[in-house]
Amino acid sequence: MLDVTKLNTFLEAELPGALEFLRQMVGINSFTLNPSGVNRLARVTTEQFASLGFTAEYVDSAFPNYGQHLVLTRRGSGNQSIAMISHLDTVFSPEEEERNQFHWSVEGDRIYGPGTHDIKGGTMMMWLVLKTLQKHAPEVFERITWKLFWNSSEETFSPDFGTVCAQRFEPNTIAALVFEAEGRLGDERLMVLARKGRATWRVTVTGRGSHAGGKHSHGANAAVQLGVLLPKIAAITDYSRELTVNIGTITGGTVLNRVPHEARAEGELRAFDSATYKSGVEKLLALAGAGDVGSPADGFRCEVKVEILTECRPWPRNAATDRLCEIWIEAGKELNLSVGGHERGGLSDGNQIWDVVPTLDGLGPWGDGDHCSERSADGSKVPEFVEISGIVPKAAINVLAIAKLAGMS
Ligand SMILES: [Zn+2]
Repeated sequence: MLDVTKLNTFLEAELPGALEFLRQMVGINSFTLNPSGVNRLARVTTEQFASLGFTAEYVDSAFPNYGQHLVLTRRGSGNQSIAMISHLDTVFSPEEEERNQFHWSVEGDRIYGPGTHDIKGGTMMMWLVLKTLQKHAPEVFERITWKLFWNSSEETFSPDFGTVCAQRFEPNTIAALVFEAEGRLGDERLMVLARKGRATWRVTVTGRGSHAGGKHSHGANAAVQLGVLLPKIAAITDYSRELTVNIGTITGGTVLNRVPHEARAEGELRAFDSATYKSGVEKLLALAGAGDVGSPADGFRCEVKVEILTECRPWPRNAATDRLCEIWIEAGKELNLSVGGHERGGLSDGNQIWDVVPTLDGLGPWGDGDHCSERSADGSKVPEFVEISGIVPKAAINVLAIAKLAGMS
């Protein structure tokens, strides 16, 4: 059994070192489209975990514009393995960080800065948890084979990362733990049990251009056709099934004296449940074909094309994830901390691996403002931050839960 008081004392003593590691990471710009920054962060991460006995493998991304994925391994004496998942990249370019003076800044109980919450705070948590296990549960730490994975490009489309993980999971992997930020409901700390899937799409209408003065009736107006389609696309949204479609952008036409020959809309579709997700995508695809807008002169019709640009499948509620969450809830009880689970609309790498090995998400510390770098004078807009006082309790929950998961107590 772990001694809770000793555990907390140790974590409090290690916190300054953990925050120093976080400060170093936040100081390295690792925007997805800054591969040299992403690769530099991977090296710093490797060095930090080397003291715990981890060795590195760098895996090229399938996409030439992105940095390398990072895999760290520490082989254990037993046959069980636990995987931990984080990512290297952030959504903030160096220019944006400079423009908004968005850098490491400690203010009261908050640390502001790019990635403090999504997800460098999660990487810091991984280190703190493993360091604590090494000291307070050495039997577990030495017995388990630890595999740590960092996606170089989680913030964009990176389907290759799921394959990188699946190919490297040990045969007896008892859990994949994703260190995205926790949710909060009052005092309750929320783990992530499911995430929506997401399809991005483009609808292109091809009409027939014509002179808006001389041959107006000869034109098949693609913009008008798109206008007819938009309410149909929007109507695929069904809140009762948690299916949403967002029309993100619309464009069309070129100049004012020309009946538009082309118009397009792009957007995304999300759902938790695989069948609902599929039916939404099918409804969207069914809009393709001959349009109902045409040329009054000869009946030439607009043509509608529907493309699915990217897909990340849903991570639905499932028994293996729920079982893991029960362990975290139990650990919380022993620490007098309320822990629960929730389903989240945003994607994570959990979507790619939940059916390969039992997966739980939300192991990172709590914060807010993710993907925001701006601050308003009246305080109504604050950039991304992590809460300092929440780090030690969350680390204690994670340590206790992992020890239970590994059969220690
Ligand atoms: Zn993230």
